[in-house]
Amino acid sequence: MSTIFKKILDGEAPASFVYRDDRVAAFMDIQPVNPGHVLVVPIEPVELLHELDDDTCGRMMQVARAISLAIRRSGIPCEGVNLLMADGEAAGQEVPHVHLHVFPRLAGDGFGLKFAPRYYKLPPRADLDAAASQIRAALESP
Ligand code: 5GP
Repeated sequence: MSTIFKKILDGEAPASFVYRDDRVAAFMDIQPVNPGHVLVVPIEPVELLHELDDDTCGRMMQVARAISLAIRRSGIPCEGVNLLMADGEAAGQEVPHVHLHVFPRLAGDGFGLKFAPRYYKLPPRADLDAAASQIRAALESP
C-alpha cells in the first residue's frame, strides 16, 4: 500500500528531514503536538511493528533516542519528551506505515491520554496473573 510516508521517503512529497540512513528516516510531523515533533519511520513500508525485522526495529529506537537528546539540546522548548507509537488502527494509527512519534513536552501543554472510568479501579492480582500467563505463553510459542 502506498502511503504519504512512502511518497515522502521516495521524494514524491515534501518533508523536513532530520535524519536518514539505509533503514530509518526521521522528519518533522506536519501537525506537531508541540514544535519539534519528529516522526521516526522505517524505509521499508510495513504497517505494523511486528512486521519489522529486529535490526530495523532496534535502529528506530536508537534514532528516536538520539533525536530525543537532540531536541533537548536544540533550543526548542522542551521540558520532557514523549515517545509514542500507535500500532494498528484501533490504537489510533492513521498512517499505515510504522512510525514512532518523538515530541517535546512542556508542563501544561494540553496533550494527554484519555482513560475510561474503569481505568481508575485497579484489577485484582488474579486478573494480572492471568493476562501475564497468556502473554508468556504467546511469547514462548514459535
Ligand atoms: P498516527 O496517528 O498514525 O500515529 O500519526 C500520523 C502522523 O502523521 C500524524 O501526527 C500526522 O500529523 C502526520 N502526518 C500526516 N500526514 C503527513 C504528511 O503529509 N507529512 C508529515 N510530515 N506528517 C504527516
